[in-house]
Amino acid sequence: MNLASNAGMDPGCRPQMDDTSLRAKLHQWLELTTTFFILLLCSWLGMELSHHSEGVATIWLTNGMLFAIVIRRPQPIWLRYFVIGLIADTLGDVIYGVPFLLSLGGSLANLFEVALSALLLAHWFGTPFNLTRRKPLLGFLGIAVVGASAITAALAVSWTLLFTPPSPWWQLFRTWYLGDALGMAIIAPLVFILQRPDFFVPLHKRRLPHTLLVLTLPALATILVFSHSADSLMFAIFPALLIVVFRLGFPGTVLAIFVIACTSISLTVMGYGPLALLPNATMLHKIVIVQIFLASALLTCFPVAALLEERKSLELSLQQSEAEYRELANTDALTGQGNRRAFDGRMMAEWYSPDTPQQPLALLSIDVDLFKAYNDIYGHIAGDECLRRITTVIAEAILQYPSARLFRLGGEEFAVILPATASDAALSIAERLREAVLTTYIEHSGSPLGIQTISIGVATATPSLDVSVLSLLNLSDQALYHAKHLGRNRVEAAQNTLSTQPATM
Ligand code: GH3
Ligand code: MG
Ligand code: MG
Repeated sequence: MNLASNAGMDPGCRPQMDDTSLRAKLHQWLELTTTFFILLLCSWLGMELSHHSEGVATIWLTNGMLFAIVIRRPQPIWLRYFVIGLIADTLGDVIYGVPFLLSLGGSLANLFEVALSALLLAHWFGTPFNLTRRKPLLGFLGIAVVGASAITAALAVSWTLLFTPPSPWWQLFRTWYLGDALGMAIIAPLVFILQRPDFFVPLHKRRLPHTLLVLTLPALATILVFSHSADSLMFAIFPALLIVVFRLGFPGTVLAIFVIACTSISLTVMGYGPLALLPNATMLHKIVIVQIFLASALLTCFPVAALLEERKSLELSLQQSEAEYRELANTDALTGQGNRRAFDGRMMAEWYSPDTPQQPLALLSIDVDLFKAYNDIYGHIAGDECLRRITTVIAEAILQYPSARLFRLGGEEFAVILPATASDAALSIAERLREAVLTTYIEHSGSPLGIQTISIGVATATPSLDVSVLSLLNLSDQALYHAKHLGRNRVEAAQNTLSTQPATM
């Protein structure tokens, strides 16, 4: 027995579903494997960096990397990332020659930092966690960078001292803490924004030269300051950094800080820069100063960049809602066409448009015939439906005149503006609209023909600053009343002309 078809299921669905879930599983495994190797590389790189700087961990990359990866993913799958983070971190150290137990303790302390930060931040600021908003950013700086890193450094240093020859706890703690906090503060925002699609907007072809030019400023300033050993000019980097904050926002600021960190740390380790001026300073001492300099730059610029980003998105949503409200204010709720306000605006624009001098403007005033009787016979709701149908018929009929615009002025009265249309053409268009409504055959037992009809008054004039635009509306209204007077279901042209424009009518 075919169970799938018995249950009303398409038998063809099963392989397709299996295929999708298989692909999703494969994708997950691929993501986990990639994350594992990235973390392994970070852990190894951290050890390598400390090797080149007299055993001082200048910047610890793994924790910030793991934090930024998990915080963008759903909480139920965090555990698997924590497990591979622990393995990769431990393995990276072991490959580098650190004893297994020592490295496991350090990795557990690192994992504690990431897990605590991610859980607390997700709990307080919700998911998806947005590091580029001011409050979550300040939360991140306080919890992950300042708080959790300190606990981790204290745990890891206490564990390390069980295995290594006694050295001052406080000194080891300071080194570990600064490297760890700096890594979290720089790498986490960098990886976070790298996962955001809008990170790549400044790298689009058109904006790339501007982005590169702006990013060159802090890079150049850092190279100049840190390759110059005669004076201490570290503060000179700030103006260039602030230009990035204002021109490239949060993503650019994170990139700039990253570039400044790499350049300043490398040059200091190589013995260049203002810190070479310090008499008898150890490498550890110099690196601590660079780390504090970077932390100050970061703590100053990130909140400002986040604030600017918040303002920008607020401005954007204000613009959007303003556009929506403007659209609503100009739209008739029943028919979806432009309302009286939109009509007035359009008439003014057409009448005073500098683009169409000497071009006649035609106006059709349309009124549904005997509509009060329609409401009385069929009810108000049917009346509304009838108005909507008539609107659709007229709107479709004017589609072939691209510049024509339909408006509902109120009640059962409509208007069509026909720019650059002479009197004869306007009359024939009006005639087509009348016929279109007539041949829709909307039943109306109160009308002499038994169906719904419309009457139209037509007026045409060449726009002039000497005459009010309302005069044209008055003329078409008079023509409409004339049509009503002559028995309805007809089109009438205005009898009078606008006094200053006799030639156009
Ligand atoms: P005429 O042929 O001379 O124009 O006669 P008429 O009955 O159409 O004119 P009148 O101005 O006396 O009546 C217009 C009616 O349109 C009165 C009002 O109840 C109805 N009406 C106005 N707005 C609406 C609306 O939004 N929905 C409905 N269902 N009826 C409306
Ligand atoms: Mg009316
Ligand atoms: Mg009417």
